[in-house]
Amino acid sequence: MLTINNYVKAKSLEEAYELNQARNARIMGGMLWMRLGNARVQTLIDLSDLGLDQIEETAHVFRIGAMCTLRQLELHEGLKVLYGDSIAESVRHIVGVQFRNQATVGGSVYGRFGFSDVLTCLLSLDTFVELYNGGTIRLSEFINRKRDKDILVSIIIRKSNRRLKYDAVRRAKTDFPVLTCAVVAGPVHGKETWYFSVGARPMKAKVLEKKWSIPRDISDGLLMDYAKEAAAGFDYGTNMRGSAEYRRHLAEVLIRRSMHAILMEE
Ligand SMILES: Cc1cc2nc3c(=O)[nH]c(=O)nc-3n(C[C@H](O)[C@H](O)[C@H](O)COP(=O)(O)OP(=O)(O)OC[C@H]3O[C@@H](n4cnc5c(N)ncnc54)[C@H](O)[C@@H]3O)c2cc1C
Repeated sequence: MLTINNYVKAKSLEEAYELNQARNARIMGGMLWMRLGNARVQTLIDLSDLGLDQIEETAHVFRIGAMCTLRQLELHEGLKVLYGDSIAESVRHIVGVQFRNQATVGGSVYGRFGFSDVLTCLLSLDTFVELYNGGTIRLSEFINRKRDKDILVSIIIRKSNRRLKYDAVRRAKTDFPVLTCAVVAGPVHGKETWYFSVGARPMKAKVLEKKWSIPRDISDGLLMDYAKEAAAGFDYGTNMRGSAEYRRHLAEVLIRRSMHAILMEE
């Protein structure tokens, strides 16, 4: 059971950060994950008055406040213009609309869950995390950091001319995924570059970069060879949802499908 002694609605990020330095203090997102745990929280800190619930779009970036919900990600028009349906696809299967109206982007990223669709998708893009004390760092660096008492303020996606495809496999609708997969392609310093992010292996997502220039009319067999090579760059494990061998096979198939979809869009 979760026990909370004090609840504070922070008036500034500075106040929230100071309060959070106490050992039994916790920042709250949507509380959907935290409430399932067993903990005694001395002070629960609510960030909902700090204007962190907006997705701001500029010429160069999307800045997603930590208190934005997964549903806001799903519906955002600007993200759709740049990435088609793929960002929405990465969250669409997370429980249900009411749930996604409450679960926050901040809680999802800070949690660094192995099963996370959200992390898998964001990691494949040019994504940064803005921390109150720790500055702005790459998401790929943040997810491997030890948990500390910092506050995640926003997620920043740098815009670029990259195509994204997201896919995942679940044994049953709305269950946790057996495997998550995001593939991105686009020019980086003039060279065609592919990014593969695979999560729920069941370990958390990791991203792999390949400088591959693949012709649009490549044969299915050759494309599968590329997909196999990308999938071989990840480790897989076994748990109640699937074996390591099954996951590796899924990764090959999902990567091939996404690469094919990206090539067909060109
Ligand atoms: C039943 C269930 C099924 C789920 N299925 C999936 C799924 O299929 N795919 C998927 O990707 N996700 C899934 N999730 C995870 C979900 O999408 C959210 O990621 C999760 O609930 C955390 O978000 P929250 O807003 O509820 O955070 P909370 O539970 O409020 O917080 C989570 C953690 O983050 C910390 N935190 C929150 N915000 C901040 C901040 N701004 N700065 C610093 N620390 C912060 C909290 O202190 C806490 O430790 C599932 C969750 C549940 C409960």
